[in-house]
Amino acid sequence: MHHAQIGQGYIEVICGSMFSGKTEELIRRLRRAQIAKQKVAIFKPAIDDRYSADHLVSHSEWKIPSVAVKNASEILESTPDADVLGIDEVQFFGRGIVKVIEELANSGKRVIVAGLDQDFRGVPYEPMPQIMAIAEYVDKILAVCMVCGNPANKTQRLTDQTEKVVIGATEAYEARCRKCYEPPAQEM
Ligand code: ADP
Ligand code: MG
Ligand code: ZN
Repeated sequence: MHHAQIGQGYIEVICGSMFSGKTEELIRRLRRAQIAKQKVAIFKPAIDDRYSADHLVSHSEWKIPSVAVKNASEILESTPDADVLGIDEVQFFGRGIVKVIEELANSGKRVIVAGLDQDFRGVPYEPMPQIMAIAEYVDKILAVCMVCGNPANKTQRLTDQTEKVVIGATEAYEARCRKCYEPPAQEM
């Protein structure tokens, strides 16, 4: 799949809507690296404590131990000897994560990040566009539309909340295709 030279760092992005399988795909890649006896460090933002504070957990209940961090610089400080880094929900770290990811890749590490490419309004979720632009590999994956079964690229919020960040799962969101997605009433 990805043919890396020894000592050559690079960035992989896994993006898509909620329920598209980003966390599953991230866990799959990290497990393979662990099986190959690489040193793997796994992070998620402390804000996302939906299922667990100390694991990445997919909606299908796959899990892998992870470290919850409050900001991007904590990741940089805690990874001197990792070969492979995994970061889930990377969109929640804000602009600061872009330089951190690049620095890690420049120093020879494989950095795999997963995150939402759009928010609930369908607007690109900063800083995903910036990360996608500097990455070597970008995989966009799709969920199944909960209304019609077509490939789903959007995250439908099922509540009236208007804040950009509302942590939730199937009670608050569902995957929808372009045709079935209903943008929130209020333009912001
Ligand atoms: P993400 O990290 O992108 O939100 P996860 O990897 O946590 O996604 O979960 C993917 C899993 O979510 C699927 O394997 C499936 O079990 C479940 N799932 C729930 N709703 C959907 C949907 N509409 N389309 C596809 N998978 C769904
Ligand atoms: Mg996820
Ligand atoms: Zn649909």
